[in-house]
Amino acid sequence: MSEGIRSTCPYCGVGCGVLLKRDGATGLKVEGDPDHPANYGRLCSKGLALGETTSLDDRVLTPQIGGQDADWDTALNLVASKFKSAIAEHGPDSVAFYVSGQLLTEDYYVANKLMKGFIGSANIDTNSRLCMASTVVGHKRAFGTDTVPGTYEDLETADLVVLVGSNLAWCHPVLFQRLSAARKERGTKVVVIDPRRTASCDIADMHLKLKIGSDVALFNGLLTHLNDAGKVHQSFVDQHTEGFEATLMSAVADQGETGLTAAELQAFYKLFAETEKVVTVFSQGVNQSTSGTDKVNAIINCHLATGRIGRKGMGPFSVTGQPNAMGGRETGGLANMLAAHLDLENPAHNAAVKDFWGADGIPDTPGLKAIDMFKAVGEARIKALWIACTNPVVSLPQAGDVADAIKNCDFVVVSDLSATTDTAKLADVVLPATGWGEKDGTVTNSDRTISRQQGVLPPPGQAKHDWEIYAEVGRRMGWTAAFDYQKPVEIFREHAALSGIAGRFGRDFDISGLSDIDEADYDGLGPTRWPISATRQGGRFFGDGRFFTPSGKARFLAVTSKEPSAKRSPKYPYRLNTGRIRDQWHTMTRTAKTARLSRHFGEPFLQIHPKDASALGLQPADLAEVTSPHGRAILRVLVTDHAAIGAPFAPMHWTGEYAPAGRIGNVIAAETDPFSGQPESKASVVAIKKYEATWYGFAVSLKPFEPKSDYWAQARTDHGWRVELSGSEATRDWRDLATTLVPGIANGSEMIGPRTARFAVWDEGVLTTALFLSKEPVLVARDFVAEQLGQAAPDVLVGQPGGNRIDPGQIVCSCMSVGRNTILTAIADAPAASLDEICTITSAGTTCGSCRSEVSELLAHAQFKTAAE
Ligand code: SF4
Repeated sequence: MSEGIRSTCPYCGVGCGVLLKRDGATGLKVEGDPDHPANYGRLCSKGLALGETTSLDDRVLTPQIGGQDADWDTALNLVASKFKSAIAEHGPDSVAFYVSGQLLTEDYYVANKLMKGFIGSANIDTNSRLCMASTVVGHKRAFGTDTVPGTYEDLETADLVVLVGSNLAWCHPVLFQRLSAARKERGTKVVVIDPRRTASCDIADMHLKLKIGSDVALFNGLLTHLNDAGKVHQSFVDQHTEGFEATLMSAVADQGETGLTAAELQAFYKLFAETEKVVTVFSQGVNQSTSGTDKVNAIINCHLATGRIGRKGMGPFSVTGQPNAMGGRETGGLANMLAAHLDLENPAHNAAVKDFWGADGIPDTPGLKAIDMFKAVGEARIKALWIACTNPVVSLPQAGDVADAIKNCDFVVVSDLSATTDTAKLADVVLPATGWGEKDGTVTNSDRTISRQQGVLPPPGQAKHDWEIYAEVGRRMGWTAAFDYQKPVEIFREHAALSGIAGRFGRDFDISGLSDIDEADYDGLGPTRWPISATRQGGRFFGDGRFFTPSGKARFLAVTSKEPSAKRSPKYPYRLNTGRIRDQWHTMTRTAKTARLSRHFGEPFLQIHPKDASALGLQPADLAEVTSPHGRAILRVLVTDHAAIGAPFAPMHWTGEYAPAGRIGNVIAAETDPFSGQPESKASVVAIKKYEATWYGFAVSLKPFEPKSDYWAQARTDHGWRVELSGSEATRDWRDLATTLVPGIANGSEMIGPRTARFAVWDEGVLTTALFLSKEPVLVARDFVAEQLGQAAPDVLVGQPGGNRIDPGQIVCSCMSVGRNTILTAIADAPAASLDEICTITSAGTTCGSCRSEVSELLAHAQFKTAAE
């Protein structure tokens, strides 16, 4: 067994195991755990950079009240008294918790118990609502419970893997690596269904660029084809399902437009029909939709019809965005769930949990889901709000309205790592919470594997664990015995014992086999897939044809295709697709702390098809202004035919801290799925026009600074910060403009011309700041300039490396810091080289492999150009 403390990566639902070794005061050396069944030693670029994100520079180390340091006693008493007085005056539904898939299961358990069991409201919801709520409802409708049937091994044993609305290559990179390896070894066919060409298409045999939102029509067509082709598993359907005939009739009648040709449809349908071992992986592209739940059921219908579920290499497979979205589902962290996959509305479930907790009563109706919760905050129906480990002012749709709602709420407490997130800045009270590397407990990944997260670093300053903070407040609100926890193992045991109730009700989530676990075994708990009970251990669900519905049969759901809620109009003619990029995580609160991960994309961008760009008069590197009925964003233009025509793409990560004008949540409409409450983050309607910049800028600085300009975006470098800037005010004297942007910049060296100006300042012989201004997008070797910070840098104003040095260009491989220009040079030097050879020559893609698809694309593009010449 390898050395190091075993823990889990916190960045996505793959839940890779890591081995941690202390490396200095706050640093950690991080390696993939070769024995963890999620990754067998692999890590992606984000996981590999984990050790670079544990610095304390932006951490809040003491409780704060009104922005001033306070002691824990005062802060906790204030929180307890504000919640108690709101409840006394306005009832339990006047308070709410908004929590996070970053919380560990133990944190989630205590928060949910406090809200649903003792405060007496179901107003606890999680940011996982934005990630997989549609899947939860789709699973419950079809299976009777929120059960993921299969395991990661199924992706390696399938003969066909269909990725629907899932850019696995960037969002679940280690699963993508596993799939790629299996494909190489055994020829797995891969189909990508996505309006946009993504990095996942690199290994696809077929890419179906379907029309945004038309997944239901596509899968209804597949169900019809499966029936016509005689591929329905009749005995499975007859014995183990209900509703097939009505669903089939509905599917046949659904003639929704997919935007695909008849030949494309037939090719996909034939491949699916003729391949027994099929896994359909789906993610946010399916879930984040006003018909997300129906999309999930349309996919499940096809697997039920063919009996391809719960068997090796077969099944519908939802992959979650967050490391512990599944733990949140298991503990009841969603407003419409109880705990242990039990139902609030079921009187027997409700009474059993009430008795187990010794609670006075548990609400029997769902609480406010995320979007409705913040609407209620805005309408002053919520008087006290507690936000934990999440940044809704950036991540929720209509983010401007969310910020206003929080600003105007009577009392807001935020428990988080930093007091400088866009959300924490608006709170009345900020409570310092422990972060990854300090937290101690468990998480569950997308294939039901429970893993330990270990606290290898001491809590900094006065930070406390989230479960501790909730328990402290619970005790101060008067429920001393119910929240008398001293250690996470006590909470885990209680959670496991409670799940035994679910087992007795014949439900899926039963880990009662761990309800007596002692502290040593808990500390050493290896990755364990649930269920874990006297009768069941891990494995797949539903292979035996038994489901969790009252009849024991799976339910087909008749679903029909619908257009996204927001309608295009002459004023808002584009549909904006949003999503994640390879090297950033959520609202960048951790990944932006490392220069390595900030070099892949240093600013927010708009991927737009050349036809749209041409119609709008947009050139590469221009800035575009994207507006919707809800707000505006300014984004750098990337012209690429990877974007669908009429449906540009923008990343979701940038915040007020890093690029205030790039917050895409500002323009997303808060339209939700009627069953799951999940917002439609991939189909908002927008208008786009060129941002009429009168000047552009690029700066590097040893210290962060917030320039006074319409547009700025900052990212860390190895020695400081790099900042992109732009403005649209009437052109002024370059020196005036420079001084407004960076006070003191004109006291150093300068090169001023009519269309460009360059400034640099040194302190004690080392470069502290350089600023490049231009009437056009600035042309300098950005990485070269950033490397000059803290050096003598006599030639920095030239903006390019001298002699034979190559400007590496935009970073493609974060692990080995290999830039685009380095790869292009290697390709030019060896034009017949294979992908593997280019990777070996440059070192790109030789560590985590997440960038191989980008290297492959550069290679393919260069070879295509050569062939065409
Ligand atoms: Fe972390 Fe990457 Fe593994 Fe996801 S795939 S858990 S981000 S190492």
